[in-house]
Amino acid sequence: RDDLLSRHRAVLPSWMPIYYPDDPIEIVSGSGRRVVDQAGRSYLDFFGGVLTNMIGYDVAEIREAVERQLATGVVHTSTLYLIRAQVELAEKIARVSGIPDARVFFTNSGSEANEAALLMATNLRRSNQILAIRNSYHGRTLATMGITGHRSWSASSLNPLNISWLHSGDRVRGLLAKLSDSDHIDAAVEDLREVLATQTSGDVAALIAEPIQGVGGFVAAPDGTLGALKKVLDESGILLISDEVQTGWGRTGEHFWGYQAHGVTPDLLTFAKGIGNGFALAGVVGRAEVINAVPAISFSTFGGNPISTAAGNAVLDYVLDHDLQENAARTGAILLDGLRAAQTRSTILAEVRGRGLMIGLEFVRPGTLEPDAAATVRVFDECRRNGLLVGKGGLYNNVLRMGPPLTLTEDEAREGLEILVNAIATVDA
Ligand code: PMP
Repeated sequence: RDDLLSRHRAVLPSWMPIYYPDDPIEIVSGSGRRVVDQAGRSYLDFFGGVLTNMIGYDVAEIREAVERQLATGVVHTSTLYLIRAQVELAEKIARVSGIPDARVFFTNSGSEANEAALLMATNLRRSNQILAIRNSYHGRTLATMGITGHRSWSASSLNPLNISWLHSGDRVRGLLAKLSDSDHIDAAVEDLREVLATQTSGDVAALIAEPIQGVGGFVAAPDGTLGALKKVLDESGILLISDEVQTGWGRTGEHFWGYQAHGVTPDLLTFAKGIGNGFALAGVVGRAEVINAVPAISFSTFGGNPISTAAGNAVLDYVLDHDLQENAARTGAILLDGLRAAQTRSTILAEVRGRGLMIGLEFVRPGTLEPDAAATVRVFDECRRNGLLVGKGGLYNNVLRMGPPLTLTEDEAREGLEILVNAIATVDA
């Protein structure tokens, strides 16, 4: 048979992670929230290609928008010429960003978006000092690896920026969070003041934060944390960058952007993943005075290209026209309620956390708070056996992560929930 895994191993880097290495999946087709593999097995997709297939598969509106662009014969010339779809998408993103007088700079990936945001902040502030949150993930360029808080996710020991880590903006591990929300916020503010006083020379460029840590295991600081930190940052003119690569576009149900849970408007916001529904599309949004103040900052050959931005326009229209934020809240509640009920019967499921359609499950050894990566893999494999794709992650590899397409139906939410609950019960037994 065509052994694609062996061929993959023979020509691609050995460190590229492949799920289910004993029986890997090649996705050969997809429709709605379902994908089909090389053996004709169908799966309900609760990970959406790492929160990337935000609308789902084979969506007519998106296919038609891209086909219309392809039909012009122009796939890409250069961003030196005017690109209608790019201007239109920038107008829409500026409008929904919540940032006044916003400007948008398009890139191809979340890493590049964060890289550009850092470039803007460091240029504007004439400082290469950055604050970041422990256990963060911000990308795989040299600078974004520098601000990625977990060394195992940071393949370089080089650090081109001067970074100070904040300890308390995250919960480190959700299940060990014993502080009340207000004590937690007080601790975060205290930590920020201490870090500013003892680890920086004061002229810090920016704090970058994910409103809900993604790769870190879907861990959220309590509502209001970023707002409380921003008050301190404002005393010194330090910028706030909200990395919304996973939390944007209504995924969290309650809000369109993660930052909106924090009573603050960031100076810069970065986006990627879902907005292209699979096409490479990302960028930075910020106030004109921040973005325009930077001298000849950046150029991206493919950033904002006609195909990606044609897709992006169709995706954003779809999100808004179908009120997918509300759908994320409704279907997410079905999942969260059902999983919390399952948690009361489980000895291994220690925490169910998340918002809307961004849900994490943390597994431990029965009767302890010891992370159990092996049990997590067993639940993960059991889900796959029963036709459900989910993601893994977290600091100790003991978190299942779910970020289904925002078009998930209530029936699909219940179907996936049943598979999850049965998988947990099987491993529990
Ligand atoms: N920021 C966050 C919060 C992410 O989750 C990721 C990707 N996992 C990135 C940045 C980097 O995005 P990309 O892989 O598109 O470079």
